[in-house]
Amino acid sequence: MSRRTVLLGLDGATFAVLGPLMQDGVMPFLRDFVASGVSGDLQSVVPALTPPAWTSLTTGRSPGHHGIFDFFCKEAPDSHQIRVATARDIHSETIWSLADRNGLRTIALNFPLMFPPPRVRGTVVPGWMPWRQMRLGCHPQDVYDRLKKLPGFNAQELAMDITPEAKPVQGVRPEEHEEWVAVHTRRERQWASILRYLMEEEPAELTAIVFDGVDRIQHLCWRFIDPDPAETLSPQGQRVRQRCLEYFRELDGLLAEAVERAGPEATVVLASDHGFGPQTGTFFVNAWLEQRGYLTWASETRRAAEPEALGIEQLARHVYLLDWEKTRAFAPTPSSNGIHIVRKGPGHPNGVTDEEYPAFRAKLADELRSFTLEATGQRIVSSVWTRDEVFEGPFKPLAPDLTLDLADGGLVSILASDSVYMARSGTAGTHRRNGIFIAHGPGVRRGLRLEGLSILDVAPILLQSLGLEVPSEMEGKVPAEVFDPSWLASRPLRPAAVMPAEAEPAPAEEVSFSKEDEAKLAQRLRDLGYID
Ligand SMILES: [Zn+2]
Repeated sequence: MSRRTVLLGLDGATFAVLGPLMQDGVMPFLRDFVASGVSGDLQSVVPALTPPAWTSLTTGRSPGHHGIFDFFCKEAPDSHQIRVATARDIHSETIWSLADRNGLRTIALNFPLMFPPPRVRGTVVPGWMPWRQMRLGCHPQDVYDRLKKLPGFNAQELAMDITPEAKPVQGVRPEEHEEWVAVHTRRERQWASILRYLMEEEPAELTAIVFDGVDRIQHLCWRFIDPDPAETLSPQGQRVRQRCLEYFRELDGLLAEAVERAGPEATVVLASDHGFGPQTGTFFVNAWLEQRGYLTWASETRRAAEPEALGIEQLARHVYLLDWEKTRAFAPTPSSNGIHIVRKGPGHPNGVTDEEYPAFRAKLADELRSFTLEATGQRIVSSVWTRDEVFEGPFKPLAPDLTLDLADGGLVSILASDSVYMARSGTAGTHRRNGIFIAHGPGVRRGLRLEGLSILDVAPILLQSLGLEVPSEMEGKVPAEVFDPSWLASRPLRPAAVMPAEAEPAPAEEVSFSKEDEAKLAQRLRDLGYID
């Protein structure tokens, strides 16, 4: 009985965009694929961000258990220093490690947080890598030399080192939008060609890939993909829209080819890590905290100093931008939409004491919830969760004290600002919690639309398809409606292998990014609006 299982990841894909594209004939393969399989919205994690979400999808565990909350992680619960998160910060078993322990092979391409790569049977090419590190990031390392020989191979483009001109800032020129879409179209072709090569030359029981152009194109080009019906696109805007549609048409073909190559015996799961929607304004959360007396910026002289001169990496700018003797709450990055409360201690004489903490946190959360714009009465923050409400597990202390959902679904800005809120001149794309799920295969039911699917269910579904028992630690489950009961009954599962306390550590020299790599990563994250 075939165990062949394929996971096609579409970063940031949502039926809000794909639905019309399937209907209009831009994505005919996807339309048929949905019609002949099981599909539904896939509820992502809080925060609905690429690193925690893909990690939850591939571990079946929530962020408080796997330890990933953001692109960044705190050094320690009480530290204000942050660094780029790596595979070393994932503290759960993954579908890759479970497959490997059961003697199955894996192909894993372009997933975030895959560096240093897991040393599993099969092939790993990590995503979000500076191209100079690609060889080091590949497992086994000699696979890089073989991939280099593929026609059209371009490591710089394949990696995250893409056009330095294209920036998602407001007022970007239309030709830059077109170039952005073109670059991502070429990147998807490259990833698809690597997938094709490995599926043919080194087939694996578990094959998985992330196509990330959907996310990146939607970040910059949302207003062309899902235009406001009240607005007509300029001729240039129309051209950008056409490029976006061509991207989706080509992606549809690449997905069709991968499914064809997997063959009729394979189970294919197509999923995204989160959805997408418009962001119409900017909430300057640190400016809001300053107005309310929770945050004090450092003196002009200190703020004018170069971070390098202060020996502080650019990722942790808040460390030198804030006056730590006075600040009691701050947001370190836009991406997590999280507020950290400063606890009393050395260097933080005005910090919040253990006794004060519960009331302080409750008051701050209430003020955020009830905050409205004076002019319009518009509410800016739709939900505020305390760490205890939204996270559980051993890594909960690394999470922000408060996590916000903004009314327009967007990310906060952490910059100083005279006004705490500004409408955006052009609508941008930002994450939503509802991603997509489609499954297809000999044991999968047909033409069924499911409600209530969780991203935590995907790993159990993949394990079921691989013929492996789902470990009890996983928080997700196999939804009963996905597979045919008779197919399930005919399929004896291998018992889950016992989880080791800690995966084997990689050698120290492979463990971290260099300062230069980290700066490159930070620039990419800035391009996408995760740092400002
Ligand atoms: Zn994502």
